Amino acid sequence: MERRTFIKQLTLSALTACAVPAAGTRLLAGDGATTIHVVSSGETLSHIARRYGVSVAAIKGANGLRGDLIRVGQRLRIPGGSSGSFLAAVRKQIDVSNFNRARWKNIIAHHSATGNGNAEIFDRFHRRHRNMPNGLGYHFIIGNGTNSGDGEIEVGARWTRQIQGGHVRSLAYNNNSIGICLVGNFETGRPSSNQIEALKELVTYLKNGKLGGSCRFLVHRELETTLCPGRHFPARELHRLFG
Ligand SMILES: [Zn+2]
Repeated sequence: MERRTFIKQLTLSALTACAVPAAGTRLLAGDGATTIHVVSSGETLSHIARRYGVSVAAIKGANGLRGDLIRVGQRLRIPGGSSGSFLAAVRKQIDVSNFNRARWKNIIAHHSATGNGNAEIFDRFHRRHRNMPNGLGYHFIIGNGTNSGDGEIEVGARWTRQIQGGHVRSLAYNNNSIGICLVGNFETGRPSSNQIEALKELVTYLKNGKLGGSCRFLVHRELETTLCPGRHFPARELHRLFG
């Protein structure tokens, strides 16, 4: 039923967006003293250093590296690295005890195609108007300062429950893809720098940390016919970071 209604939803506005008012490497030991980064494809030491706000020399020193060569899958200790500010607020909520690492193969970014919203508003909308009994179709929402904070990450019940998303048409992709929605319409406007920073922190933590680098980062339009997440969404920049 969820699938049928989602097709209807996408038909209504497949060319405008996501049809919703409706969306590294931080393995922290203990209280965050040690950060491990798992190198993904295309990353360089300088990328990684920039991500964590530390110097290349410090990373090399902490890992006994002589040159600049690193390889995909390599685990690097990040000296003094800590969770980013947006992620830190919800990291405990993300670290669910029922985490199903084998399930998640993709992370898909969306925009809400609305000026405002938050997890609760989209959840209500999906239940009432999209006939989605599991509610909010995304696993995460990143606010734009309207109905939640600018860059605030909200963790949806589908993540807590580790169940399929309702954020794309494809059943297969809903089943194995984490949906992250940034509040806003990025065909007409731009995501805030806080939203993009929060997204980077979240994807880094999920992709490189919890999933050990073994999943793909996509934006919705790379998968299906839609404008989502809008032409002003910095897809290229994010692909440089996440492959
Ligand atoms: Zn979308």
